[in-house]
Amino acid sequence: MAEAYDPNNIFAKILRGEIPCHKVFEDADTLSFMDIMPQGDGHTLVLPKAPSRNLLDAQPEVLASVIGTVQRIAKGVKAAFDADGVFVQQFNEAPAGQTVFHLHFHVIPRFAGVPLKGHTGQMADHAVLADHAAKIRAALGIG
Ligand code: AMP
Repeated sequence: MAEAYDPNNIFAKILRGEIPCHKVFEDADTLSFMDIMPQGDGHTLVLPKAPSRNLLDAQPEVLASVIGTVQRIAKGVKAAFDADGVFVQQFNEAPAGQTVFHLHFHVIPRFAGVPLKGHTGQMADHAVLADHAAKIRAALGIG
């Protein structure tokens, strides 16, 4: 049986506006913001507003809308950072690497010959994250 959704996870708190984020994009069904411990410049997260724990319990219509936003953000980060490619990553349950239990996709611009940083646990400078969010919004035409 699937694990239950915990409404006190950190992304649920961001969705409720209880804690801040560097927002990139929002529509009726999805939210996108900068990862606070980026594995590369422009590391952005995309999540559905619906309370899904991960890919395994999400409704198909939730997945359909969130993947549309993933594509939009992938194009945005690629343009904003003039990247050579874009990496999209998503984990399901702790043994697979999931640490926050609200469905989310990582969208990370990639550059030829530049490896991703590991999960260092290092928080990025807020001014830098704000600047990167603004760059992506500008590339999306919502700046
Ligand atoms: P995972 O569950 O392994 O897919 O990763 C969760 C991601 O959320 C990590 O990359 C964290 O750096 C990121 N993260 C955790 N807390 C926050 C937060 N308050 N704001 C933005 N990103 C966060």
